[in-house]
Amino acid sequence: MNTSDSEHIAGMLLASGLTASPTPEESDLIIVNTCAVREKSEEKLYSLLGRLESLKEKKGTIIGVVGCVAQLHRSKLWDKKPSLDFIIGPDNYGKISQIIPSQTRKKVLFTEWSPEWRDQPVQQIKRDSKVSAYITIMEGCNNFCSYCVVPFTRGREKYRPIPSILEEAEELASKGYKEIQLLGQNVNSYIDPETGDNFAALLENINKIASIEWIRFITSHPKNFIDEIAYAMKKANKVCHQLHLPIQSGSTSVLQRMNRGYSREEYLEKIDLLRNLMPDIHLSTDIIVGFPGETQVEFQETLGLLANVRYTNIFSFRYSPRPQTAAAKKEDNIAFEEKKNRLIQVQALQRKIQLEKNKSLIGQTQKILCTGISKKDPHVYTGRNAGYQVVNFNSPNDVFDQFIWVKILSCGPYSLFGEKAEFPSFSR
Ligand code: SAH
Ligand code: SF4
Repeated sequence: MNTSDSEHIAGMLLASGLTASPTPEESDLIIVNTCAVREKSEEKLYSLLGRLESLKEKKGTIIGVVGCVAQLHRSKLWDKKPSLDFIIGPDNYGKISQIIPSQTRKKVLFTEWSPEWRDQPVQQIKRDSKVSAYITIMEGCNNFCSYCVVPFTRGREKYRPIPSILEEAEELASKGYKEIQLLGQNVNSYIDPETGDNFAALLENINKIASIEWIRFITSHPKNFIDEIAYAMKKANKVCHQLHLPIQSGSTSVLQRMNRGYSREEYLEKIDLLRNLMPDIHLSTDIIVGFPGETQVEFQETLGLLANVRYTNIFSFRYSPRPQTAAAKKEDNIAFEEKKNRLIQVQALQRKIQLEKNKSLIGQTQKILCTGISKKDPHVYTGRNAGYQVVNFNSPNDVFDQFIWVKILSCGPYSLFGEKAEFPSFSR
């Protein structure tokens, strides 16, 4: 979501006549787009701002904070960092280009909410990739999971009308984009504000756009992941058989305290349905360890669930209390060392599962969307398969931004390695 927001902001700045500069030192304006979801990401912001302060002293660089930390602390951010020039929350990105000319004169704060969806001209978005694009379909969250700050930073849910989403997708298709990733804090609760059509209907519509080959979406809340969406995924042939379905904990009692709205059993029933409908589906999840009061027994239930579901990938975090949330009012009573230890156990188990699963893919030929060069080796290409796994590979010719076939030759727990192949034997 933040990557996509940054692409929107960059587009606005370019449209207002600014140009991108290669380093912070050479910039006249620096905007830090922020995430407030965990304590650690917020701490990183303050250390970055500390480093940027010297630039401000030396050459008067204009520095602003936008995004969720801006919204969470509003004008209080000035108590911590008085030299900031502007503070703009996620609901007010549209105002960034308005304030740039007035920057040198006064400090600016924009954190009020708007109940309406506001479209930015599609042509303005400065996308990083030429083949894969994010499309925001909704913003905000109504769920109030007890640990989560997002409803306080992104406000209540608002939905973009289907025609506007389709217009953006068609524009992307006409420019040669091949993959679309629909974005929202909880895409499963999407509803067209004008017609009442739901997320399954949206998938069906996007699936009709010629030349888009892969469709993905993130994030799905299990509570709103109704069977109709699983059937729509199966029916829409361009929707990748890949789903991020965050469970957070394998223990029903912890899930209740998290206010997630489903039990372990209900979650597992959804996994069964998905695997029955799409046996090749790749599943991923989010896990929080050390939620207040999480007992050893409850933690073992999370390990048991991971061993049972065998996800393709997981994102796992130590619980950190966040301002304004219900959980922050409870004692954060799992010691840091214990949280760390639980996280190590989760990650070690998952690493083993991923290695086993990845090994079973060796010898397959897979369809890959090439998105760049491997970070480790400039002679190696990188891309993703339909399951959204990272695949690094050799190719004798330039395959940037193209779909190609790759034969998987080896793997680690977190990526696959292969070489460009001519004859596909596996067709998703
Ligand atoms: N809307 C998404 C999640 C967005 S936040 C969803 O409901 O799945 C991304 C992830 O950050 C969450 O899934 C959760 O695992 C993690 N997270 C959120 N708040 C946290 C906190 N206070 N401490 C640790 N992890 C947290
Ligand atoms: Fe946070 Fe829960 Fe909303 Fe996800 S669904 S953004 S975890 S409150």
